[in-house]
Amino acid sequence: MTNTLSQKKPGVTLRLCAPRGFCAGVDRAIQIVLLALKKYGPPVYVRHEIVHNAHVVEGLRERGAVFVEELDEIPQTDQPVIFSAHGVPQSVPDNAVSRNLFYLDATCPLVSKVHKQAMRHNRLGRHVLLIGHEGHPEVIGTMGQLPEGAVSLVETVEQAHSFPLDQFQDIGFVTQTTLSVDDTAEIIAILKDRRPDLVAPAAESICYATTNRQESVKAAATECDHFFVVGASNSSNSKRLVEVALQAGAKASSLVRNHEDIDFESIQAGAVIGLSAGASAPEILVNNIIDAFKERFAVHLDLVETAVEDELFPVMRDLRKVEITDHDMAFLYGQKAS
Ligand code: SF4
Repeated sequence: MTNTLSQKKPGVTLRLCAPRGFCAGVDRAIQIVLLALKKYGPPVYVRHEIVHNAHVVEGLRERGAVFVEELDEIPQTDQPVIFSAHGVPQSVPDNAVSRNLFYLDATCPLVSKVHKQAMRHNRLGRHVLLIGHEGHPEVIGTMGQLPEGAVSLVETVEQAHSFPLDQFQDIGFVTQTTLSVDDTAEIIAILKDRRPDLVAPAAESICYATTNRQESVKAAATECDHFFVVGASNSSNSKRLVEVALQAGAKASSLVRNHEDIDFESIQAGAVIGLSAGASAPEILVNNIIDAFKERFAVHLDLVETAVEDELFPVMRDLRKVEITDHDMAFLYGQKAS
């Protein structure tokens, strides 16, 4: 009976990327908020969206998290204040200390590593070039580790050609963690061509999760009629996946918040559809999209797996003994599609 019904539906191929969705840094940041809510009770203040995803932010708000953009929005309190996964300028913890606020830093360890690399360049007398996107919280956080004027931002290939590199005797670079691997390589090559003595960071700044998600999208996107990336419009790594899909040969590519953003009417029988999710998008949103496709089409699900991730970033010691419930796990991970 089910077969007969599904045969009547038009067929589509759904190429599902792996890895996709939550990375270890996002997973850790959300856990920190959940565990802090359990240990200290609400409210728990969170500076900036803990990760760039409305579904996650709303879920945490319902549990008692209060999101603010700046510390001055927080009343004098003993409740914890959590800094988001993107990292913060040094002035933020300094301000928290001066106000006697108790803070938990959910900055991803891989962002902290970039901060350290930038500080190292500075300590060794190098002017720091930060390749990244102006206004992104991670860029604001990285620039804010060093005194004003110690870091210059390079955003584009054009800026890599025109930035006045000769004004600095020694120069090093770091990058935002969530950039396009290929675009960044092009920018670095131009800068290096102009200043062969430009010093690279000791370790790659673009993180494993960004690289892996882009690789999987590249492998899946060729000849896709449409590629969908689940993510928020302020999520840098998600927006890069949309671009990577187009560069890799998808005929069209879009960022969608959830299944409601997809125009299913426009998808034709026989279409090949790509699907991935940015590092801050929970699996439940991917599952909802797969279900929405299955309601309308006979879906041939094709898993395009290019890496297996086992990175795990532990939360701070104080929160390790707080128990996480099945309900919390469901919120964190949803149900995995295979
Ligand atoms: S995308 Fe990379 S740098 Fe950002 S939170 Fe995830 S692992 Fe950390």
